[in-house]
Amino acid sequence: MKIKDSWFTVQQIDETTFAISEYGHWEKVHSFLLIGKEKAALIDTGLGIDNIKRITDQLTDLPIIVITTHVHADHIGGHGLYETILVHEAEEDWLINGIKGLSIERIRHDIGRDITKPTPTEFNPNTYTPYTGQPTAILSDGDLIDLGDRLLTIFHTPGHSPGHICVLDNDREYLFTGDLLYVDTPIYAFYPTTDPEELLNSLEKISYLQVAKIFGAHNTLGIDPSILYEVQEAVYELRGKDVVRHGTGTHVFKSFSIQF
Ligand SMILES: [Zn+2]
Ligand SMILES: [Zn+2]
Repeated sequence: MKIKDSWFTVQQIDETTFAISEYGHWEKVHSFLLIGKEKAALIDTGLGIDNIKRITDQLTDLPIIVITTHVHADHIGGHGLYETILVHEAEEDWLINGIKGLSIERIRHDIGRDITKPTPTEFNPNTYTPYTGQPTAILSDGDLIDLGDRLLTIFHTPGHSPGHICVLDNDREYLFTGDLLYVDTPIYAFYPTTDPEELLNSLEKISYLQVAKIFGAHNTLGIDPSILYEVQEAVYELRGKDVVRHGTGTHVFKSFSIQF
């Protein structure tokens, strides 16, 4: 299926798996649609600059459950377009009430800058307000989600944020890593709500999974799983150097970097 769209870029990963990307924004955000026999899962809903449902409507008629990797504005932008929203228990409060201490000016500044594609007239960075709402259900580490002949496992991977999760597609061995692991720009673990030690624990946790392909939520789409060996070495190296705390700067490895 080929979809042409003014804002979203749709790339087909396999017959029933799609990346929905926003390359017109500096954050180069990816959301993912995983279609099972009975339901589909949408992993994150993007920036909310344009209407992501316009895309998912073209890809499936099945009910869609939204799985939130974490409650940052660039991952929940289209949540309000869907009925079923899942979030980890540690970020339920952020979803309902917003993130305390994070200014709306900061969010609006980041959403509105370095945009290289035309945006819809309804989008106004000066009035942009991140989604808030009640989740339909709460996720915990080890939860299984059955889409009908397609089973997903939830891994709680805090560090970038307290309720961050990764999603493993069990049969296809795709690992969706959200903002825990991506390439090209530093992984953020430097602001107050991040936790460098937990980030390393989470990276270590996913690095031992049997994985065929990794999909981070930003930048280059699709990462070779060999990066997990690098992750193991990086975790070991960082722990040995007494730098696992805020303010120690950006630590650069061959295919990725982490900013504490
Ligand atoms: Zn984030
Ligand atoms: Zn992000």
